[in-house]
Amino acid sequence: MELIDTHCHLTFDDLVRDIESVIARSRAAGVTSWLTVGTDIQENLKAVELTEKYENMYAAIGMHPHDAKDVTNDTLTELKELARNEKVVAIGETGLDYHYNHSLHEDQRRVFAEHLNIAAELNMPVIIHCRKAFEETMEVLDNHTADVKKIVFHCFSGSAEQAKIVLDKGYYISFTGVVTFKNARIKQQAAKIVPTDRLMLETDCPYMSPEPMRKQKVNEPALMIHIAEYLTDLKGMDLTDFAQAVTATSRTFFQIS
Ligand SMILES: [Zn+2]
Ligand SMILES: [Zn+2]
Repeated sequence: MELIDTHCHLTFDDLVRDIESVIARSRAAGVTSWLTVGTDIQENLKAVELTEKYENMYAAIGMHPHDAKDVTNDTLTELKELARNEKVVAIGETGLDYHYNHSLHEDQRRVFAEHLNIAAELNMPVIIHCRKAFEETMEVLDNHTADVKKIVFHCFSGSAEQAKIVLDKGYYISFTGVVTFKNARIKQQAAKIVPTDRLMLETDCPYMSPEPMRKQKVNEPALMIHIAEYLTDLKGMDLTDFAQAVTATSRTFFQIS
């Protein structure tokens, strides 16, 4: 079995300090490729650097909506330059976070739109972070995505109804360990309707370990197997078939081999 963790933050302190063991445990669990996601200038650079050490590791780069207030034209120029690195396979995470509101909504929308422009120009997929801003996110996408071919909503936290809207637009959906939580019935109902050719898996580690490992404080790619098992059961599928299908979806989406 070969799974791809399509959204992790391997450069964050809790993981990077022990990266060799983190990667070894991940491989042993069948999670054999990783997409490490940068969230600011520093982390983007670190992400690209880390991918140079591991063949099956790729990077996504972007400025997290939390930091939208600090994003200047220079930042975006730098981002675009770095995106030309061959290990960078996606732009993001970008989007809107109206839960924490660390940046003004208008700054978030501006920076989100700029990321979409960069992705369109470089013909790259986009990883969307959307929290408590579903309608606003769809509105920005409707106005800017004429040329952006591939979009994934990461850490999907919407309802089945919202999942349907996302799927109808041709976008993809990825689930974290949050879908395994006992109080996550709405997300579980959403997961039921997402076909495997539009579904991807991610840990978003070091955050949010899945059940039954929720007590493990620092999440890591090895634990993604629990998300795969949970969704396999939810869909009444066979684990090998499910893994094969979502891995194929991820490879095609990010164009990785
Ligand atoms: Zn996110
Ligand atoms: Zn993330």
